[in-house]
Amino acid sequence: MPPHDPRYDILFEPVKIGPVTAPNRFYAAPHATGHGWAQPKGAIALRAMKAEGGWGTVAMQMSEISPDSDMANHPMERIWDDSDIPRHAAQVAAIKAHGSLAAIELAHGGMRARNITTGVPVLGPSALPVLRPEVPVQARAMDKSDIRAFRTAHKAAAKRAAQAGYDVLYVYAAHDLSLLAHFLSPVLNQRSDEYGGGFENRLRLLREVLEDTLEVAAGKQAVALRFSVAEPGKPDGLRHDGEGRDVVAALAELPDLWDVNISGWPNDSQTARFAQEGYQLPFTDFVKSLTSKPVVGVGRFTSPDMMVSLIKKGRLDLVGAARPSIADPFLPAKIREGRVEDIRECIGCNICVSMDAYGLPLRCTQNPTISEEWRRGWHPETPALSQKRRAHLIVGAGPAGLECAVTLLRAGQKVTVAEARDEPGGRVTREARLPGLSSWARVRDYRTQQLSQSRDADLFLASRLSAAEIAEFGADTITLATGARWRADGLGASHLKTRFEGETQALTPDDIMKGALAGATPGTYVVYDDDHFYMASALAEEICKLGHRAIYVTPQATVATWTDLTLEQDRIIARLRDLDVALHVNTTLRPDGQFENLLSGEVQAFDGAKLVMVGARLPCDDLLAELQARSEMQVVQTGDCLVPGTIQAAVLSGHTVARGLLTPTDPSVLFKREQVLNPTRQ
Ligand code: ADP
Ligand code: SF4
Repeated sequence: MPPHDPRYDILFEPVKIGPVTAPNRFYAAPHATGHGWAQPKGAIALRAMKAEGGWGTVAMQMSEISPDSDMANHPMERIWDDSDIPRHAAQVAAIKAHGSLAAIELAHGGMRARNITTGVPVLGPSALPVLRPEVPVQARAMDKSDIRAFRTAHKAAAKRAAQAGYDVLYVYAAHDLSLLAHFLSPVLNQRSDEYGGGFENRLRLLREVLEDTLEVAAGKQAVALRFSVAEPGKPDGLRHDGEGRDVVAALAELPDLWDVNISGWPNDSQTARFAQEGYQLPFTDFVKSLTSKPVVGVGRFTSPDMMVSLIKKGRLDLVGAARPSIADPFLPAKIREGRVEDIRECIGCNICVSMDAYGLPLRCTQNPTISEEWRRGWHPETPALSQKRRAHLIVGAGPAGLECAVTLLRAGQKVTVAEARDEPGGRVTREARLPGLSSWARVRDYRTQQLSQSRDADLFLASRLSAAEIAEFGADTITLATGARWRADGLGASHLKTRFEGETQALTPDDIMKGALAGATPGTYVVYDDDHFYMASALAEEICKLGHRAIYVTPQATVATWTDLTLEQDRIIARLRDLDVALHVNTTLRPDGQFENLLSGEVQAFDGAKLVMVGARLPCDDLLAELQARSEMQVVQTGDCLVPGTIQAAVLSGHTVARGLLTPTDPSVLFKREQVLNPTRQ
């Protein structure tokens, strides 16, 4: 193992946080895992993996302190009563077993709680609708006894957290997810008593709860304050050069640790399409100048050089990470071991974030083992067990083929990958050339780097294999990872039959990514989005970049519907508007090539414009039938050629197929499930 670069020594210095000491500066920040209180084994194993991978502090996700902070279908953590303590104690033990500190984000969701399960009133500083306009629920204005009850509940939760063994107890006033942030807000707090009105009054409850928590901690646990210093893009929101700064100045020395970020979640978890590594620093930089206490912040940090510079320049004391710690739980260990090039860098796609909207365990494009630590026993670094060494042929070097190859290689297998094109990466290589998506090439780069380090791996480019060549190659196993192509016949998510008649013709994303519009006379292109993720809007951007005009049309009621889940939708709309792309929603494409507004019935043709159809994809699986006819050999398919999907799905598929080749498993048992086994026991 090469020694680590002394430049990175500073990242491995211990940091005193009040009465406790973090062993290094790597801080796995609180983030939703989707496992929550109902699937503790999955949650425990996921966080333990981060501790094993070297994160010196590992934090729990939002942990509801009481039943009136019921986040309903979002599986957050709970610490409502003593029956929750054993679960938390098990989590703490699993983190501490690796020498890391365990932190808990004690939280009350205030006007973001829904209380659908508990049926008790939602609470807030004032009587207002809750902060999700689509939910028909209002908050009750807390009276003095509610405020007392909240403080008592927070103290009780802090005591339980201390009993469970946590080292760091959070007071949570971040995002728009926290009652304490709601009291701070001059918009949401319309009270006229000592908890409302002027700044000091709105700050009162936060100060009191901080003091309460310090009292419970009694110098044994550290108390962290998680605070969003700004709400960029919100006209009447908090500003880092306004009250955000005033809060830090007023409470500067009170907490043992400042955990700072920007709110709401779409600001905090921006994708690579819209923000570069370190995007929060311009907002959070000032914090260290106002406090002597350690400061942690996030910003999709994956580069160790950037981390060193943050510390040296006095911008942060601890490097916070949620997504980078999901994409690579072993990021700190790899830096420590001098293996920086082995880091699996987060690509900033927010597939992980989308899982929270569904209330499901995390998925990650770069790390297919996330959430599978307990239920499938998958480790992100330790090789899967193999029965014997065999020679594997993988056809196609897209995300699925490359992940399959890397997983086999790590298990000591011999791997040959044949790729038709003269560059590896398949769809990620092509899509990474679209505006804003360059970081997606990391999916390719991490894996080709792993292959290039081994003599047991061969990657042949410009090698389109026929069925005969594959059969003759003589490998022990054959995996087809040949991808998918976009359809041009009008079939898409909301139109499941071939649509076009007669003359109607469309370009596909493949045509545009192949360069069909480069150098063409400027024209107008209607991008018809019946896919609803990122592709149509990225193509519209590309079309504008090439000097053409783009019109965006979708049968859905919103632009790029699914990107609401990746927190990108508002930014996509803003960018398309900046580019003067006309946006038509609720508008369907008819078989004759005309467009019909589904609400008004109005029909329009967009005369002279050419159509770009972003609909469904077809698996490129022609080789399968030919191979089956030609040889007795078992052939497996993976990724988009098995079923077209997201890049994340292709990587997971490649990983799963590789494990299946190494150790055949019972296909009827996909994974262990967390179940209550004896419903008759009280
Ligand atoms: P996935 O997302 O499933 O990995 P991609 O479309 O990204 O799929 O990658 C599939 C890759 O397979 C492409 O780079 C394509 O060039 C390659 N490919 C397709 N057919 C063949 C073939 N017959 N021989 C070698 N490579 C192929
Ligand atoms: Fe990063 Fe995407 Fe993985 Fe989330 S899903 S951690 S954004 S690579």
